[in-house]
Amino acid sequence: MSSSSALPATGYEPREIVDAHMHVGDFPEFNVRLDASGLTALMQHYGIVSGMVFTPDNQYTRTVVEEVDGAFGMVWANPHRPGFLEEALELLDHPRFVGVKLHPLLDAFHPNDPALHPLIEEIVRRDMPVLLHCGHPIFSLPWSIEELARQFPAARVILGHMGHGNIIYINASIDVAERNPNVYLETSGMPMHTKIAEAVERVGPEKVMYGSDIPFHEIGVEVRKVLVSGLEPALVERVLATNARKLFFGDEQADAPPAAR
Ligand SMILES: [Zn+2]
Repeated sequence: MSSSSALPATGYEPREIVDAHMHVGDFPEFNVRLDASGLTALMQHYGIVSGMVFTPDNQYTRTVVEEVDGAFGMVWANPHRPGFLEEALELLDHPRFVGVKLHPLLDAFHPNDPALHPLIEEIVRRDMPVLLHCGHPIFSLPWSIEELARQFPAARVILGHMGHGNIIYINASIDVAERNPNVYLETSGMPMHTKIAEAVERVGPEKVMYGSDIPFHEIGVEVRKVLVSGLEPALVERVLATNARKLFFGDEQADAPPAAR
């Protein structure tokens, strides 16, 4: 695999950040790629103390999170893939895996597909969250993900990209998180900085978290959206670090899950 993306030369004030949405791998259709050394360089450059990492090849995710300090894995679960449940259950036992990632758009399934239910029951049992790509028809719209969240009120469900680039879906994502206590929002790739502050006001200070979606989006840009969102500093800190620590690691102070501390 070819190596890291170049680091930006612009000035940037590093701070302690937890990134809820990072990818490794080679994505030729996007002309982007990131490997373990590139991830390490970016995390150090931007002060990312912990990052949640996923890619369709779960075994590659495993090698990366075993190699990169501060990187933790989420199992990419595709219910169309034979053996997906067995692989997921095995990886969830790994001390550096902290939850499940679903991409209903790319993998073409409804978020509440019954084939996923045993896995969702398992992560509820383990008190781990599930993050879903959210923002495109037909399978990754907020209302469809809400069906999963309603079916499993004890599951913590994160709307990754909180609607992505479309205002209808962004507003609907905030609506869904507002009316379902178990639904959280993650900010990567969502272009409107003001919607981050609106989301915090409407869904509560503990349910919105920063993510970059590196290498598809740039960390400095994604952090900047939170910084200029209009949130007061204490809430910026919650969005950039504290909320993800609580959600993924079970503790607002922790930089790793209990099994990896
Ligand atoms: Zn992503």
